[in-house]
Amino acid sequence: MKAALLKSPGQLVITQVPTPEPPAAGLLVKVEACSICATDIKMFRYGQRDLIYPRILGHEVAGVVIETGTGNVPFRSEDRVQIAPGISCGKCPACQQGAPNQCDHIGILGFTHHGGFAQYLAVPAESVACGAVNLIPAGLSFMEATFAEPLACCLNGQERVRLDSKDAVLILGAGPIGCLHTMLARAKGARRILLAERSLKRIRMAAAAEPSRLVDVSKENLKEVVRKETEGRGVDVIMLACSESAIEYPILELLAPRGRVCFFSGLPSEKSQLHFDANFLHYHEITFVGAYGCTSDQNRMALELMASGQVNVNCLATKRIPLEAIHEGIDYLTEHRGMKVVVTEF
Ligand SMILES: [Zn+2]
Ligand SMILES: [Zn+2]
Repeated sequence: MKAALLKSPGQLVITQVPTPEPPAAGLLVKVEACSICATDIKMFRYGQRDLIYPRILGHEVAGVVIETGTGNVPFRSEDRVQIAPGISCGKCPACQQGAPNQCDHIGILGFTHHGGFAQYLAVPAESVACGAVNLIPAGLSFMEATFAEPLACCLNGQERVRLDSKDAVLILGAGPIGCLHTMLARAKGARRILLAERSLKRIRMAAAAEPSRLVDVSKENLKEVVRKETEGRGVDVIMLACSESAIEYPILELLAPRGRVCFFSGLPSEKSQLHFDANFLHYHEITFVGAYGCTSDQNRMALELMASGQVNVNCLATKRIPLEAIHEGIDYLTEHRGMKVVVTEF
């Protein structure tokens, strides 16, 4: 079968690899759509903590079951499915505590196992067993279903930071993730949603996510805007949705008392040591939380949010490409020419 194989950082090739057999108690899926994520680009350029080479990347994937493995598999051929990338054991303390994305034995499609930038995807028995395979609700396209994974990661971040309707939230970074956070915060009824960005191209596109206020930080003073939009109080929640936002912005100065900050995006490793006034956290009862990945349940919830029309991701899918054009897709995203690229021809 045809696949985009990452051999080492910078070496992504379209090549022929053996078509996988359906794993025992697993599934063989014909990939219909797989989106390019910022993490794929990071892996392509620099590698990533959980990545093992050579690897077929792609963890935002949807397709059709064409064959089931031996044993009792609760899916049939022709089922339309979305596959959450996390493969968790269900037994370790993290899994038992409802945090399978922190599983001691975690595997991830597109990181430790082959992912969706190929004609076929072998879904292991462990994925089926941990509930990672979801039927795509009727009316939702394969393209939309690929957004379930990034939307589920946003759900995880907003659950971790306990975002609710009483909150004014500031989302830093208006890329696809910042836009999904905006849409999700709106679905949760957040009182005020500020979305800040400095790239003019992204600001233009992010209007489609309909924040309460889009802030152009290349022209506006973020601190002043936040003060004005929150009656001088500051925001309740800050969502760090681009890699250097924790360094670029005076995050503590933008927070209301009891403010919460979600480190949703990772920082470049050479810049990840931050300095802040711990007494400010003490006196103002500030909370910092991290968020990484998502659970199978959150993927299911994300599909439901889209199927019910509470989140409409179509405006974010700005480009569709064949698998052969994956390098062009990466360039298109790197240059901020659009929001999200979906591979729809294999
Ligand atoms: Zn991703
Ligand atoms: Zn586990």
